[in-house]
Amino acid sequence: MIDEAFITKTLADLVKINSVNPALEKGAPGEAEIGTYIFNILSSLNFECTINTISPGRVNLVAKRRGSGNGQSLMLNAHMDTVGVEGMANPFGSVIRDGKLYGRGAYDMKGSIAAILGMAKIVSENNINLSGDLILTFVADEEHESLGAFELIKNIKADACIVTEPTDLKICLGHRGFGVYEITTEGKVAHGGLHREGVDANLKMGLVLNELNQLSKQLSSENTHPLFGERSLHVPLINGGQSLFIYAGACTAHVERRTLPGETQVEVFEELQNMLRQLNKQDKSFKATLKQKIWRDPYEIKRESKIVDVLNKSVLPYCAPEYIGHTWWEDSGIFGAAGIPTVIIGPKGGGIHQHEEWVDLESVYNLTGILLKTATNFCQ
Ligand SMILES: [Zn+2]
Repeated sequence: MIDEAFITKTLADLVKINSVNPALEKGAPGEAEIGTYIFNILSSLNFECTINTISPGRVNLVAKRRGSGNGQSLMLNAHMDTVGVEGMANPFGSVIRDGKLYGRGAYDMKGSIAAILGMAKIVSENNINLSGDLILTFVADEEHESLGAFELIKNIKADACIVTEPTDLKICLGHRGFGVYEITTEGKVAHGGLHREGVDANLKMGLVLNELNQLSKQLSSENTHPLFGERSLHVPLINGGQSLFIYAGACTAHVERRTLPGETQVEVFEELQNMLRQLNKQDKSFKATLKQKIWRDPYEIKRESKIVDVLNKSVLPYCAPEYIGHTWWEDSGIFGAAGIPTVIIGPKGGGIHQHEEWVDLESVYNLTGILLKTATNFCQ
């Protein structure tokens, strides 16, 4: 019943369409063209399709097949954007070798889009009776600020959701959250020879970095979560000073803190604020400000929830169900926070965000089967 030729051709077409996120690569096209491609397929399969434009070139697509009764509704989700292609030999080639399809987005996550479309084709062409609504959602900007998922959630309701991010067909029960913070140390600008006047903001940042290093070690060594591992912290960016022979007036570091379920925005902010207060106690000339730039909650679904149970049974014909958690954040956090029980499953592959990305075709066909079985058993 699974139309492997259709899924392979669709995936090859999807990879050939450049949908690099313009926030990550200047001048990149975004999701408009790939959204239209998916729209055309799903319209021809009699889904009710709507394209929502978020900003020029940035779109979400929602495709609905109404249930025959009042059964439970299921949402399947994928993002349409990809990261950039710098350094890739053939990013849009869709070359197939040894059962793998290569190209940017093949694994993250056009293989999943092709699997969803393959499933939609079976449901439509065989007129499979689902009592609840089947809602297919394809969003913009997951790789940057999740503009698409935040827009989508304003107008969507479902009894459960499957985010089809890559998991090697393992059942992912959630992920860590994260906060991004900006710490700026204050110095006093002066001629490099006037040491009695100048205060070096870069050296003050050194004190902060030392503390952050201690905190990072401490976080990574405790509170281990059975699926998501431990908390972590790193400093992806530092920018300080203006020139040789001038005392640095300011130094700014960005701190990325990965969180576990149970940690709150207030607690994580306070932990950093306390660290800066302690430094100020030890050195009165130490001055620093702390700002929270981004916050995303961690997300976790219970193993006992209905959608996880149904998914577990649907995976069984293909492989022994295995449970995992992701250490990175995904759009599932947004759907979960909006009250939609959400679980994550996607195909096998490799090279995510790297120079050679590929997806295993057989796992894409299997994902189609798993999604079909899950929908028929859940939408009752
Ligand atoms: Zn992804």
